[in-house]
Amino acid sequence: MSEGKKVLSWDEAYAKANAFVEKLTLEEKMSFMYGINNMILFDAIYAGKIEPFKNANGANFNGMILNDAPSGVRFAEGTSISWQAGINTAATFDKQLIYDIGHAQGKEFHDKGINVALGPCMNILRTPQSGRIFEAFGEDPTLSGIVAANFIKGMQDSGVIADAKHFICNETETYRRSSTSNVDERTLYEIYLEPFYRSVVDGEVGSIMCSYNAINGTYAFKNKKLLQEVLKDKIGFRGFVVSDWWAVYDDDPEGINGGLDMNMPGGAHEGAQYMGSKGSYWGKLPQYIKEGKVPVSRVTDAATRIIAAMYKMNQMENYPPLNMKLETKTEENKKLQRKAAAMSNVLLQNKEDILPIKNVKKIAVVGMDAFPRQSDGETDMNGVSKERKYYTGHVPIGYGSGTTTFGYLVTPLEGITERAKKDGIEVVSFGKLNDKGEEEIEGAVNVAKDADLVIICVQAISGEEYLSCEKTIGDRLDLDVLHNGNKLIEEVSKVNKNSIVVINAPAAVNVPWRDQVKAIIMGGYAGAESGNGLADVLFGDINPCGHLPYVWGKKEDYPVQINFLDNLSIVNEEEAKKFAPNDIKDADLEEFKRVYPGPEYMEKLKSLPNTPLNLGGPKTWLDIYRYQGGPNLEQYDYTEGIYVGQRWFDKKGIKPIYPFGFGLSYTTFELSNLQTKMCEKGLEAKLKIKNIGKVDGHATPLLFLRFPEEVKDYPIRVFKGFEKKFVKVGEEVECVINVDDHGLSYYSVELGKYVRPKKGEFTVYIGFSAGLEDIKLTCNVNACY
Ligand code: BGC
Repeated sequence: MSEGKKVLSWDEAYAKANAFVEKLTLEEKMSFMYGINNMILFDAIYAGKIEPFKNANGANFNGMILNDAPSGVRFAEGTSISWQAGINTAATFDKQLIYDIGHAQGKEFHDKGINVALGPCMNILRTPQSGRIFEAFGEDPTLSGIVAANFIKGMQDSGVIADAKHFICNETETYRRSSTSNVDERTLYEIYLEPFYRSVVDGEVGSIMCSYNAINGTYAFKNKKLLQEVLKDKIGFRGFVVSDWWAVYDDDPEGINGGLDMNMPGGAHEGAQYMGSKGSYWGKLPQYIKEGKVPVSRVTDAATRIIAAMYKMNQMENYPPLNMKLETKTEENKKLQRKAAAMSNVLLQNKEDILPIKNVKKIAVVGMDAFPRQSDGETDMNGVSKERKYYTGHVPIGYGSGTTTFGYLVTPLEGITERAKKDGIEVVSFGKLNDKGEEEIEGAVNVAKDADLVIICVQAISGEEYLSCEKTIGDRLDLDVLHNGNKLIEEVSKVNKNSIVVINAPAAVNVPWRDQVKAIIMGGYAGAESGNGLADVLFGDINPCGHLPYVWGKKEDYPVQINFLDNLSIVNEEEAKKFAPNDIKDADLEEFKRVYPGPEYMEKLKSLPNTPLNLGGPKTWLDIYRYQGGPNLEQYDYTEGIYVGQRWFDKKGIKPIYPFGFGLSYTTFELSNLQTKMCEKGLEAKLKIKNIGKVDGHATPLLFLRFPEEVKDYPIRVFKGFEKKFVKVGEEVECVINVDDHGLSYYSVELGKYVRPKKGEFTVYIGFSAGLEDIKLTCNVNACY
């Protein structure tokens, strides 16, 4: 691990920030609060229009650069590492590695002179359909919290302000700007708040981004109850709240009074027409202050929070100047990314120990996902070409703001070929799509039939709502792999009994061919070193140790279904025009064609009275589609409550395809000697892990708790912790898993706080996954201490 840069405590940072802000004029303080002069945002960087803010006050403040993040430095034009998706980071279940990834990514931002990395993302996986789940850490609040805190610590130790997003309940891309997530208090606190809680309390995160959606009817950007009362007052968040981009839909004082500290990207961006004219947003602030609608103290507070975050991360002096094109793809970083890619691969099936690959002379690799992407000049997954009908080639990340421009990409075929060479193994391959965007099966079958084994690479894609790709506008409509991949697997596995399937997808896909193939690997979205990481696992150079950060089921088994855009069709210009007003601009029409959601929905929109912006109404149908809201918000009821993911499957008695935490190894571990101790600080569970197999490897015991009886209507088991240990063949090591005071608490609506039960007993379960068959040790422990 690299040496961390000293991060100040909040108290130290505030002492300095107070002294700094004290000397500012009101105008200067206000100028920190939106991205016009001083906040140089990514669009300006991209366009090369950078005007650093020269501050009065003689202090060393050169502005603040914010840039997208979750999988590395966005817009770096190939000069930074294209890291794996957040869901892969979570799948490593390795706290030290997660810290190291955060630190290495942070250092890239730091060295390029970026102050705030707009990540990590920590929204919860309610359904595998959700478009942006690849950016986040899965379904479980405890896991997401632990991953978030470790990642943030790593990132901030490198001197960069992390940004926990999107606050809160932004679990669906469809209508993300025009929906309300309706969630009860207990569920909010126990599930959706938990990763933010850990980010604040354990990770001391410097900033938090509010989401596009409304929560219980009130948009996030002006949700006083959540921003001020819960996040700041109750949880004690001392950094600043930044809006998601153009998520400030009106210029009521309610936004700033509600606890929002920074409006991004402010009014200077061309898209600001949605906010009113250029630069006008919060232009009303001086007026509001004069009229007494916004207290000066609120402005001072916002400015102080922003400056304190900068002091905390030591950014107020000698911060590197902005240089987006600084080369940061160091060999060390590439190695770390490869390790993360390998350790995030999840081995789901391995019949007859077909893996690791041994005693073979010829390997076939088939399926388009194994091959290089066809470049068409577009910026990778930042945008999928309008002309490109089908996505072709390997998918190492989803699309949208959570991506980077790849400087290089090692495909599965390249990774496998390179590694096979070492053992003198021949590699043959085939991957092609026909006119209908389906895999050409005959070619694949021909190549596969006389190889000793065949690796079949398939994929699914999802992303962020402002783009579209392969029938998705963010969310996936179904869980099938793309391009008729199911058929490809079926046909190929008929001619070659040694079939290994590799899936690159954000989360669960349908696996109807499961019994016909010998091995299955979930590669997720593994980033630039994807193919090398996969080869490391296939050939046994790294013993697989990734685990699913979610339960894997059929679409209908999840409590949430995203159906709204089922009738989606990307239409031609003529059709689009029918729905477009006369003065629609060509550029709008182009955009409109890409995200056009289909006639029925447009009819519905036409009947709406206004937009939440209320600034003269929408100008195009695209505006309406994206920014529609007000009284017509789409209602997303979180009716499953705290029974998210595995908890839902347990409650309903549904056997998943793979349980939460599932992931095989090439060796076998034995767990024994569980001893538990309850004290004021929390629970300590000690156990022994023995490697009784034939190769060294990592074991990750997971800890689940059943809560004492006084806690009513609770899941039968909740995930509460894990530790990863490397164990050599024949060796036995001790493993300690701790659950702290907060982890032992539930949220009491009656008392309005987290409560740790002191009566009765907890039951401790230790196992390799949430599946009952994988639970190996159990004991009871008194709640009282
Ligand atoms: C996304 C954010 C992102 C921002 C800036 C928004 O569309 O929701 O996650 O940080 O854009 O790119």
